[in-house]
Amino acid sequence: MNATEKRFCPSCGNGFDAPVGVRGRPQVFCSPLCKKIEQLFSWMEDEISKEDFDPVHSKIKEIRRRLFYLSNLLNAKSHNQKTRPNE
Ligand SMILES: [Zn+2]
Repeated sequence: MNATEKRFCPSCGNGFDAPVGVRGRPQVFCSPLCKKIEQLFSWMEDEISKEDFDPVHSKIKEIRRRLFYLSNLLNAKSHNQKTRPNE
């Protein structure tokens, strides 16, 4: 008989039923994975904005390559979900 309220995950945008009236921090994310992804991106944004990159010998190219890879991976997964036939 725990009450819930509809919330939307700031990481993935999915709606979920969060318990209300329970002790502790309110649930913000729909899953531990979404919480971890948000923590990782916040950390990377903080670190990258603090860093003073040397434009010639920098890590920028490698960071961009890896972010580009992640972007393509997400696109591929998103595309697979859209094209997966209904079961
Ligand atoms: Zn989520």
